[in-house]
Amino acid sequence: MSSLSLEHIGKKYPNGFEAVKDFNLEIADKEFIIFVGPSGCGKSTTLRMIAGLEEISSGTLKIDGKVMNDVDPKDRDIAMVFQNYALYPHMTVFDNMAFGLKLRKVPKDQIEKTVKEAAKILDLEHLLDRKPKALSGGQRQRVAMGRAIVRNPRVFLMDEPLSNLDAKLRVQMRTEIAKLHDRLGATIIYVTHDQTEAMTLGTRIVVMKEGVVQQVDTPQNLYNEPGNLFVAGFIGSPQMNFMDAVVEEKGSSIILNVGGQEFTLPENKAKVLKEKGYVGKTVVAGIRPENVDDDPESLAKYPNSTFEAKINVYELLGAEVFLYFDFAGTPMTARVQPGTPARTGSTVKFAIEIDKMHIFDKDTELAIC
Ligand code: ATP
Repeated sequence: MSSLSLEHIGKKYPNGFEAVKDFNLEIADKEFIIFVGPSGCGKSTTLRMIAGLEEISSGTLKIDGKVMNDVDPKDRDIAMVFQNYALYPHMTVFDNMAFGLKLRKVPKDQIEKTVKEAAKILDLEHLLDRKPKALSGGQRQRVAMGRAIVRNPRVFLMDEPLSNLDAKLRVQMRTEIAKLHDRLGATIIYVTHDQTEAMTLGTRIVVMKEGVVQQVDTPQNLYNEPGNLFVAGFIGSPQMNFMDAVVEEKGSSIILNVGGQEFTLPENKAKVLKEKGYVGKTVVAGIRPENVDDDPESLAKYPNSTFEAKINVYELLGAEVFLYFDFAGTPMTARVQPGTPARTGSTVKFAIEIDKMHIFDKDTELAIC
């Protein structure tokens, strides 16, 4: 078992800068937790505090119920994998992987067995006699993983382990890490700013901004129910379209008025906005590019939320097309079928899948419905 508990964790650097503020998280055994967020948001600092490489300024860190704040890094039973591998260049793959075990005076035959098992899991068996310089980037990364695995730690911490690999290898190693998590049944905390990695690997994702946790949720919930504007804009690529809209009551309907264009809201959203007193107020409406369509079925299905726009850029990506245009003074993107007749310069009628619209409070930036 290896559960972690971060209670009101904070980090203030000696220069007074608060890199992490009131971080709270309960991590269950075998979870794959991702820390994601823009550069400088405090992901690595948090990871390093868990590892013991950085002092915790405030709050309590527990592993399996025991307070770890002042426990030496080597006694935390945690293995960390960095982006730059940190392999010993003069040692073979075998010796690199065996190094930590030798230091801990593990018997020789036990070391041999453990390293070979890890090498098998990581498909490194045929490379055990090589030195790091004779390995590819992906192979080096696997050795770094192997060095962590042989220690059989309670928790794996990984800080952007794939960021030095080229795009193809990243995809390959991503699936390797997912398999590894399944096979080892380990608790993993993984830092990345790559949201594909975050979405595909994580059992839960922690989205951070300026040292503050914005939302902790499963990848699917983060995507479908972002709690605030920042998360909505950060998760998803191309990013969600945002527009200012005035909430108006028209007869028995509640509509969103976007620069004179009216979209009738479905009943459930209308009810929430009315009950919470948003009629007459400006909100931020968000819609993902895949929920802006130009096909006849969508136009027929959503007759009360259509608009026209002139296409600035048509981008064919093979299986899908991105259309870029301005609507009510805001740049927007639609992700449509490759069969679309739309091209750069053409005027296209779009339908917004209004039931998929996200509405945010303009001041607090929190999701309303
Ligand atoms: P990246 O994705 O760029 O690695 P990150 O989210 O991991 O970013 P951190 O490395 O945790 O960010 O840094 C968080 C903030 O703390 C940054 O603004 C950084 O400049 C600051 N910081 C890091 N180390 C120190 C330090 N020793 N003294 C003062 N500020 C620091």
